[in-house]
Amino acid sequence: MRIEVVTIGDELLLGYTIDTNAAHLARQLAAIGVEIVRRTTCGDTAESIAAAVGEALDRSGAVITTGGLGPTSDDLTKPSIAALFGRAMVLDEEHLAWMRDRWATRFQRPMPEANVQQAMLPAGARKLVNHHGSAPGIWLEDERGRWVAMLPGVPREMRGMLADTLLPIVASRLGDARTVVRSRTLRTTGIGESAIADLVGSLSQGVGEVGLAYLPNADGTDLRLTVRDAGPGEADARLADGVARLRPLVGEWIYGEDGADLAEVVLSQCRARGITVGVAESCTGGLLGARLTAVPGSSDVVQGGVIAYAYEVKTSMLGVPAAMLEAHGAVSEPVARAMASGARASVGVDAALAITGIAGPGGGTEAKPVGTVWIALDLRGVVEARRYMMVGDRAEIRQRSAQAALEMLRRRLLADGRQAGTQ
Ligand code: ATP
Ligand code: MG
Repeated sequence: MRIEVVTIGDELLLGYTIDTNAAHLARQLAAIGVEIVRRTTCGDTAESIAAAVGEALDRSGAVITTGGLGPTSDDLTKPSIAALFGRAMVLDEEHLAWMRDRWATRFQRPMPEANVQQAMLPAGARKLVNHHGSAPGIWLEDERGRWVAMLPGVPREMRGMLADTLLPIVASRLGDARTVVRSRTLRTTGIGESAIADLVGSLSQGVGEVGLAYLPNADGTDLRLTVRDAGPGEADARLADGVARLRPLVGEWIYGEDGADLAEVVLSQCRARGITVGVAESCTGGLLGARLTAVPGSSDVVQGGVIAYAYEVKTSMLGVPAAMLEAHGAVSEPVARAMASGARASVGVDAALAITGIAGPGGGTEAKPVGTVWIALDLRGVVEARRYMMVGDRAEIRQRSAQAALEMLRRRLLADGRQAGTQ
């Protein structure tokens, strides 16, 4: 089945709102084997909605819209599309009663008259239940089986209605000869995409009939395997085969699959070995601590840390000697090591990670350009440190630094685990 998506709203055209609805629709529909063949964005006027939806309908006969279902005067989606189908707008008494009741019981005040608009539906329309708001979605179909499904613009409502109501309807129309588009993602960090391509070698053109995409981002490079035009079982089998062939080639650079978070991976390794963790952060200013504590249940591993931005704090709270700071500068190997050991002692943990670097845009020198970052790990008295050259702007340099610190700990635990295994 081929579907077109029309997202409606002046704020999308102006660039104030990013069109996350279209992306979400594409991913969700691909998962059940439906291809979005074209995406259009139009403004809030009745003419532009009618033109965009009319053209899409002529091409594909199946259109999903988002936006403009609300009670305000800029919400013209329903009447514009009703006119396209030659349908009048009629009051849905049942929905109006439901809305009045909802206002009375939930908000405990009378419903604003503007909301009556939301109970006006094109004649012959089917309502799509909204468990997350008051505007119903609408399914409108003509004698030739051409249809438009109208979803709300608010992303949370749109997602809920799609999952609860629209996806099952679309899936039921696909019949038995259903093919899907499915993906699995291997997440790597600390290695560039071209270096991965070298490791992967001849498989880089695709693993059998599985497509392979390299997706670099500030956390690393994701390897996404995708299967199209296969039945669900066949697609899963091909993906499993692709993953089994790629894993040994990319090896320990892979820290997880799909939505895996490196902080979570590291925390569970620490938990399994009874290792507690602390941090000392200069240029990341708490980002590493935030990554770790964002993981539910992190408190049994993460004990705390120090945001040591100023020289004085590095000295007073982490015990970094003032003379060392003078001699080497804050962004240096000895200081990174001293910060890690200082944090381990002052927080009282088994493992402490320290980050000190130049996130920019100012502060770089020839010897230490913006992006220079030293990261150190003190795990039970064994200290290691490494210098990184991070690319990107300030936000990216900070994000990459936090990720690299987590990776340093993951790698150490892996290496220690191997050593313990061979002894
Ligand atoms: P409401 O009842 O709130 O008026 P609506 O169905 O009329 O809902 P819109 O008015 O078009 O929807 O959009 C409501 C809000 O939802 C917008 O302010 C915007 O933040 C968000 N939104 C709309 N369209 C999109 C989109 N395509 N992607 C992401 N967010 C969107
Ligand atoms: Mg609106």
